[in-house]
Amino acid sequence: VPGLRQHLVSLGQEFYRRGWVMGTSGNFSIVQSNRPLTLVMTPSGAHKGRLKASDLLLVDGQGRPKNRARKPSAETLLHLEIVRDRSAGAVLHTHSVWSTILSERHRDAGGLAIAGYEMLKGLEGVTTHEHREWIPILANDQDMPRLAGRLRETLAAHAAAHAVLLSGHGMYTWGRTADEAVRHVEILEFLLEVIGRQESRSWPQ
Ligand SMILES: [Zn+2]
Repeated sequence: VPGLRQHLVSLGQEFYRRGWVMGTSGNFSIVQSNRPLTLVMTPSGAHKGRLKASDLLLVDGQGRPKNRARKPSAETLLHLEIVRDRSAGAVLHTHSVWSTILSERHRDAGGLAIAGYEMLKGLEGVTTHEHREWIPILANDQDMPRLAGRLRETLAAHAAAHAVLLSGHGMYTWGRTADEAVRHVEILEFLLEVIGRQESRSWPQ
């Protein structure tokens, strides 16, 4: 666990510097054990650039904290849905500028398609730029059990998706390992910025 905690602390600093988790936004989890399911996770309300290893929580498969020093994030239920549905080893949630803008603008379409870019090959299992990645967009919701239910349906309906956007809010992505999840954040944030910059040229000034 010390290694996993330190890994999350470094990720917080790195993602904060890149502008993906400003303020206390975003949250990260890494699966510590599968039986019983236990996640090492960032707590509610923590600044990701200034995390300490002792801030991190262990939560069980129901989202309950195993140590009570800090409160789990309200979004813990979303992490658990993804871990279960995708057999993920890590789940990363970011609030970048481009994911916020594009998730709002494409909300009515239910998702955002990205196709034709070499960078798509950084997504697990994708071997050609001809791939079309569909990123589903869910309406944002403060009712976490309800949002977790909608996320479960969305993950089931889009078995090939590598990420999900919450409208006007941010992105969830994941990987079998923490490194794979980090790579997905980097690739997807890059692609969202590419799409956003291109689309924005035709938006009214
Ligand atoms: Zn969030």
